[in-house]
Amino acid sequence: ALDGNWARRWVELAAASMAENRTELIHLDRNIGDGDHGENMDRGFQAALGKLPSLEEGASPADVLKLLATTLISTVGGAAGPLYGTAFLKGAVALKGKAELEPGDVAAFVEAASAGLQQRGKAQPGDKTMVDAWAPAASAAEKAAGAGEDAVAVLRAAAFAAVEGAAATEPLVARKGRASYLGERSAGHRDPGAQSTAYLLGAAVEAAS
Ligand code: ADP
Ligand code: MG
Ligand code: MG
Repeated sequence: ALDGNWARRWVELAAASMAENRTELIHLDRNIGDGDHGENMDRGFQAALGKLPSLEEGASPADVLKLLATTLISTVGGAAGPLYGTAFLKGAVALKGKAELEPGDVAAFVEAASAGLQQRGKAQPGDKTMVDAWAPAASAAEKAAGAGEDAVAVLRAAAFAAVEGAAATEPLVARKGRASYLGERSAGHRDPGAQSTAYLLGAAVEAAS
């Protein structure tokens, strides 16, 4: 069940994934940015992990994700901190304090996160940013929920679309963020934020199984 315990487990597995993939994310950001994305994400998720014990026992998924959002905003720094913070905060608000997420809630979460992120960072799909993982994840989740899939299957559809979306950033020319300073030379490299999004949504699926 996608309940408060699932959300806690998501933060735990996401923190483990950011630690495990820290070096890879650093390498990706070194290609087209300043090389700190893995470090930023690892620091932020370790901080969130450390705050989990401060939650009340019956914390809802939204409670957990709000704590994650505020922690990321204050500890990640760089472009990704406020962007991920906004995404998780808007996504949490869409869950309306529900104790257990239904398929439509999962779709609403991913959609609200994606929309919040786009509003905050002003990037469109195709600009070679984390939006290129979140936006297809939102579409896939909505489609899966509409097709009557269960909540975990909706989450899995979103995570799979994020993996594909991250890979699809490779040929793109960056139009937002540091990578955009490289212009055409940003093509041929995967966007680090899209890749971290794929890992984070993958951890959400893992937390459900
Ligand atoms: P910084 O670029 O400040 O060093 P990070 O390296 O932590 O921050 O994060 C870089 C990632 O942030 C990029 O790979 C991209 O996915 C994302 N990003 C940057 N600017 C934007 C934006 N305007 N909208 C959406 N995502 C963005
Ligand atoms: Mg960076
Ligand atoms: Mg930086």
